[in-house]
Amino acid sequence: MITACSHKVCGKEKNIWFPTKDRYSSVKRHVYCINCGRIQNISDDRPRPVGYWMNKLGSLSFDLDLTQCQKRLIAKEIENTEYFHDTFSSFGSGQKALFIKIVSSYCDASAIDFDAFLQVKQ
Ligand SMILES: [Zn+2]
Repeated sequence: MITACSHKVCGKEKNIWFPTKDRYSSVKRHVYCINCGRIQNISDDRPRPVGYWMNKLGSLSFDLDLTQCQKRLIAKEIENTEYFHDTFSSFGSGQKALFIKIVSSYCDASAIDFDAFLQVKQ
């Protein structure tokens, strides 16, 4: 695990009003980390735990006919990318984009419909 900050949330009285993409209200109270200042993602576009991405890589490896080496290298890169471990302030869509970028850097993934495969909200 390489999360640089273990995130300590601010107290309820210290949270801040911040704009949202929410349909029903334009601002919401947001909690932030008092160590690194990152704001907790309270949107619908929530991050997934790293295990989710490893499972997806496992199923994808059959569709893409990945070698053990390719699978290992992709898994290692996901494992070493902090964004996949930070379930506090990452976004699911950001993780998805990174996942596609990493997978595509080791093989030709152009035949995969990632939207259908991952079903992560944008
Ligand atoms: Zn933090």
